[in-house]
Amino acid sequence: MLLYTMQDNSTLVIKNPANDEIIATLPKETEAGLQTILQNLRQGQKNWSQRTVQDRLDCIVKFGELILENKQELAAILTQETGKPITQSLNEIQGAQNRIVHLQANAIQWLSEESLVETGPTLEKIVYEPLGVIANISAWNFPYNVGFNVFLYALVAGNAVLYKPSEYAALTGLQFEKYLHEAGIPTDVFRCVIGDGRLGQQILEAPMDGYFFTGSYATGLHIAKAVAHKLVPLQLELGGKDALYVSDDVVDVKQAAISAAEGAFYNNGQSCCAVERIYVSDKIYEQFVADFVTEVKSYVVGDPTDIKTFIGPLTRQPQTALLNEQVADALDKGAQLKLGGKEIAGQGNFYYPTVLIECDNRMKVMQEESFGPIIGIQKVSSDEEAIACMQDTEYGLTAAVFSANEQRAMRILKEMNTGTVYWNCCDRVSPNVPWSGRKKSGLGATLSIQGIRAFVQPKAYHLRKL
Ligand code: NAP
Repeated sequence: MLLYTMQDNSTLVIKNPANDEIIATLPKETEAGLQTILQNLRQGQKNWSQRTVQDRLDCIVKFGELILENKQELAAILTQETGKPITQSLNEIQGAQNRIVHLQANAIQWLSEESLVETGPTLEKIVYEPLGVIANISAWNFPYNVGFNVFLYALVAGNAVLYKPSEYAALTGLQFEKYLHEAGIPTDVFRCVIGDGRLGQQILEAPMDGYFFTGSYATGLHIAKAVAHKLVPLQLELGGKDALYVSDDVVDVKQAAISAAEGAFYNNGQSCCAVERIYVSDKIYEQFVADFVTEVKSYVVGDPTDIKTFIGPLTRQPQTALLNEQVADALDKGAQLKLGGKEIAGQGNFYYPTVLIECDNRMKVMQEESFGPIIGIQKVSSDEEAIACMQDTEYGLTAAVFSANEQRAMRILKEMNTGTVYWNCCDRVSPNVPWSGRKKSGLGATLSIQGIRAFVQPKAYHLRKL
């Protein structure tokens, strides 16, 4: 059974993943409609880019205020269409505001022209010009965070944005459009278009000035190939198989287990930077596993609209088959199931929080992105073994070490071929530092100065007065 089905070729039927009820039927954007929108955006961008950065920033700040004023309703929409527990929906909406604070503090400085040679016969400076009309094809799992990382930064930099939310977060995408327009962003500068992957495909074929994608490696690779001939900027924020190593010197094993479990199970494990595999020193392994299982057992699983719920339904029903396959493969190769391992019977896409121990890197659960409430735990006997296991992956998003010894942790983190590393924390994104993936986890960076410069092109001026 598909969670979201195309009722006919012109509408998108949206179902609540907690109870399979239809919550909306949305008209899909047509190919002709898309062409008109793009022509309008092309025109709108010219005027938008003439406005000052401060002026554009003021609109973004107003947008942030409107989002906060309406956050209860917006959280309810997010929970209804993705199944995200309501407290986590509220956290996401509140947390994403830090992108706006970050832009307020830095955008003017980072988008201003830079004079590099101010004396002598030839003056030299850099001017940062917007790219033009960019496409933002986005994911459903954290639509506020990953959406804001792209469209807010792109807009402040003077671009027009064609935003295609995932079909699993389409209602939230429409709310972004509503409040951006209400905040003063012209209707021909930001547009949200509704549709499934076929609409995404049409966007790839359209004349865009840049592609900014958040989603899976498979779709990211497809996009990279499809737009390569255009030679326009391409940014890919993709999946991960993020490792966490718990060394034998952690001061508080129980606290390490609680933090690791939260990193693995927050948002039902549907985070790009969720902890996806855990390596634990053999000296503390038994205690860590016991504390970890106790913690996961304490999670309230069920109705995502209940403020006590920590684990709601999976957003996408087909993910349960992948999780079942990972469990079967792990058990076949010698893992032990400590908790869960199957769907919860009844309505909705519920899956028991699942803990597998005695895992090793031959298992799919330690190699392939799970994107669900499942974790594999492996015993290691040295830092060297942990480093080798953590590095044995096709992905490169994040890696974490829990250790009381900073030097020891830094030595391990230096070895990691990932865009982000964590010491005594995990599953964390900050606008102050770049967010980027290596290998199959992506290309380019959002957030920080890199994240804003991604939406401009430098023009070099050589100026000689005669
Ligand atoms: P997905 O299936 O790859 O879809 C992502 C977007 O691409 C959706 O809007 C989707 O539309 C669209 N799409 C599908 N086929 C397309 C095509 N042929 N051409 C153009 N666009 C197309 O990924 P997802 O399930 O939404 O997101 C989960 C993945 O995103 C995970 O791998 C996760 O790790 C990754 N992620 C990464 C980050 C990061 O910052 N690195 C953040 C969040 C998520 P429809 O949904 O309408 O089909």
